[in-house]
Amino acid sequence: MSMNRQGRVSRPEGEAAANTDTFTGNRALMLEEPLIFEIGDEQTTGVDIPEILPGTGRGTAGEAGGGGGPVDSARLEGPLHQPSAGPPPRSGEDLKGLLRTRPIGLPGLSEPEAVRHYTRLSRQNYAIDLGLFPLGSCTMKHNPRLNEKAARLPGFADVHPLQPQETVQGAYALIDLVAHWLKTLTGMPAVAMSPKAGAHGELCGLLAIRSALEARGDARAVVLVPESAHGTNPATAAFAGYRVENIPATPEGRVDFEALKARLGPDVAAVMITNPNTCGLFERDMKRIADAVHEAGAFVYCDGANFNAIVGRVRPGDLGVDAMHINLHKTFSTPHGGGGPGSGPVVFSAALAPFAPLPFVEKQGDHFHLVEEETAQEHHAHSFGRMVAFHGQMGMFTRAAAYMLSHGADGLRQVSEDAVLNANYILRSLEDVLDAPFGPSGPCMHEALFSDDGMAEGFTTLDIAKGLIDEGFHPMTMYFPLVVHGAMLVEPTETESKANLDQFIGALRSVAERAKAGDPALKAAPHFAPRRRLDETLAARKPVLVWKDPEIAQAAE
Ligand SMILES: *Cc1c(COP(=O)(O)O)cnc(C)c1O
Repeated sequence: MSMNRQGRVSRPEGEAAANTDTFTGNRALMLEEPLIFEIGDEQTTGVDIPEILPGTGRGTAGEAGGGGGPVDSARLEGPLHQPSAGPPPRSGEDLKGLLRTRPIGLPGLSEPEAVRHYTRLSRQNYAIDLGLFPLGSCTMKHNPRLNEKAARLPGFADVHPLQPQETVQGAYALIDLVAHWLKTLTGMPAVAMSPKAGAHGELCGLLAIRSALEARGDARAVVLVPESAHGTNPATAAFAGYRVENIPATPEGRVDFEALKARLGPDVAAVMITNPNTCGLFERDMKRIADAVHEAGAFVYCDGANFNAIVGRVRPGDLGVDAMHINLHKTFSTPHGGGGPGSGPVVFSAALAPFAPLPFVEKQGDHFHLVEEETAQEHHAHSFGRMVAFHGQMGMFTRAAAYMLSHGADGLRQVSEDAVLNANYILRSLEDVLDAPFGPSGPCMHEALFSDDGMAEGFTTLDIAKGLIDEGFHPMTMYFPLVVHGAMLVEPTETESKANLDQFIGALRSVAERAKAGDPALKAAPHFAPRRRLDETLAARKPVLVWKDPEIAQAAE
């Protein structure tokens, strides 16, 4: 009999119970859900649409304008192709051949059915509010509800970017406050608040670097990126028009300083370094690297996505960084993982500050105003342009401000200490069953890195990830960074309790032991998820994103 840790029975007894098929295909709270187009019917709609008045093409309630064009009587009154009794159909001639001849193909659900459809789908997803989310490099931590409450205050949530500036002084004060904290925490004199994600911030930083180089008549073509870099770094450099060259890692997982130094020269515009890096290690040579890069006339871009591990303890400005993005949606606990919105402010050194993008908030006396192209004075005249239409993600700024103020400077320092402690607890608790390539060289920072070394023949990192799904966890980041074979990158963050960490460690240990023992059942995991193993390459390369009504598809043939 299977029991949970509290001694309660957690699984049905015996083979018979486990293999029972249900009529619906549901398994208790695990609900099977078809596509929205496959449920409901053409006759139903969740909207009350007024009936068409004969001859007018207008609904009884549609007089006031608003509601869009004439209603499709064929769809409302079905059967599908011929309008039945009621308003006379308008001839194809009236409509110049635009009369619809086939059903419109929209889902036909009542309101409760539509609500249930999306609620059922949402339950098939993993979320930070469901459990520990060990995705390395992503800093999936708890988003305090206080942040959400602040972000919903009408004075922040309901302002419009084109409102007169006198009416949004409070919102500007908040942006200025977050900017102040970011500059203080990083030890950098300037910050551009507008970029909307980490990758967007990288682009912002490189465009500022390019402008600074061009301003001194020094066009350079190459950006150096370490092997362990996040994929966005080389992608950004290429997007900004640079040629990307790799710098190798040392056997200890850090940037090879000698190799980097040897490659520096008059064609190198910048070096992009993630610190702490994606092996979960602090780049101890950062200052030495920055000095060498500056000496060669280039700039240091730091990928600050992992700032959570050093916030309150290290100021990147002291390490010689010229530009660095900060993912508010990672370090400062604004929600992410569902595609946004993110926010990636970029801090700048004094050398790059004049090239920062517009607009930004500036304080003059008691008054805040937005510096735009028209109002940029001498010291902003070199700005490279703008990243976004307006000033950035107000909702994210508000959440970050709530987070900063509720933690305070000492609280933020404790965040990084606890995040690092939690990661090391995971590293040391699992290194007897999972290979930890950099474990012997000392403690890690915010994330623990394992490899697939030592698994039974034919068993891979993918099998471990699938096994974790059955254990009720989102898998860790896998096959990244590329410098480690079959990498597994686990970032617990500071918001997990020891009990949660122990539960996760127990699950990962159990799955790892099965992979080492070559348990064939693990090769077929997940067994309990809504779907088993998918052809992930096919799903990524050829996603089927548009549903085709079989009837319409047939008619088109
Ligand atoms: C998350 C991350 C990025 C990209 O940030 P986005 O906000 O997703 O664009 C870049 N570098 C590292 C190391 C990251 O972890």
